[in-house]
Amino acid sequence: MEITIQRTTAPKQKPDENHLIFGHEFTDHMFVMDWDKDIGWHDARIVPYGPLELSPASNCLHYSQETFEGLKAYRTADGHIQLFRPQENFKRLNNSNDRLSMPRIDEDFALEALKMLVELDKDWVPYGDGRSLYIRPFMIATEPNLGAHSSTQYKFLIILSPVGAYYASGLNPVNLYVETNYVRAVRGGTGFAKTGGNYAASMKAQDEAAEVGFSQVLWLDGVERKYIEEVGAMNVFFVIDGEIVTPSLQGSILPGITRKSVIEILKHWGYPVSERRLSVEELVKAYDEGRFTEMFGSGTAAVISPVGLLRYGDKDMVLSGGTIGELSQKLYDELTGIQWGKRPDPLGWIVKVC
Ligand SMILES: *Cc1c(COP(=O)(O)O)cnc(C)c1O
Repeated sequence: MEITIQRTTAPKQKPDENHLIFGHEFTDHMFVMDWDKDIGWHDARIVPYGPLELSPASNCLHYSQETFEGLKAYRTADGHIQLFRPQENFKRLNNSNDRLSMPRIDEDFALEALKMLVELDKDWVPYGDGRSLYIRPFMIATEPNLGAHSSTQYKFLIILSPVGAYYASGLNPVNLYVETNYVRAVRGGTGFAKTGGNYAASMKAQDEAAEVGFSQVLWLDGVERKYIEEVGAMNVFFVIDGEIVTPSLQGSILPGITRKSVIEILKHWGYPVSERRLSVEELVKAYDEGRFTEMFGSGTAAVISPVGLLRYGDKDMVLSGGTIGELSQKLYDELTGIQWGKRPDPLGWIVKVC
């Protein structure tokens, strides 16, 4: 399929790189293509960034048939622009699409479209340390029909947003509490899919956490309310007895690409890693016995997010003395080093754009 390009005739003023707020500013162009039951994907195009025309009866607005992805483009010191494991994002998008009963996209074609778009808007990739261009591919059901069934029309889009360093003043520990009231997902549901509905279901808990001064909540499984799952947009890792443990993927956890990369790099380094079920009781016991020593989250936005405090009911678990754990720092340095091209890429994760 050919991709047509309609360049903007009114390029926007670029925002001040020193004051970028996540997801507020968008580049000059976006990628769009349409799907229709009878003809499949068609009309692949790069057009000026701007509002969409949608019927108010569009399925996505009522029944949330929607999927999305998140990744970044990085500017290297020698002036190249590169992506981190983008094939994984399009593979995951198709898994999400399958679950939401939405059409699949051609993953290689989507990557070509993404590269073309990023190259066209390459001047928008920030220069400063830790800054990047956030990439948001997403798909929405657009059939104008209030009938509650799968749509017969969809749009796939990619939009780009320059973002500042996640940690403005260096890597910083966050505090979390274990959520015992609400649940995010259950096995058999949509927890493993990147879809807006999962986020809608978690906003309330997120707001309540913010009210009492916590960054995020740590979700438990929705059935037994016993096993650790993940944080809002991050997977989680625990160091117990010197072993690195992360909850296994059971269908209710989002399979993070940063999670996968952390596991692969740890194995590459020869560290003991285990993917298994981990109960909050086991964690508390290990903490009391001095065996649970470090915790961190992993996700595209923060890369590695050290956890300084984990609260469960009235039990406060202080980790790494409330500072940045040794392994958290090592992983953060390695992954960001690879992403910005400051370190070698031993596992072949980087895809050059230009
Ligand atoms: C996107 C996401 C993550 C992190 O995935 P990455 O691919 O590492 O960015 C974790 N949990 C949820 C719920 C997410 O939506």
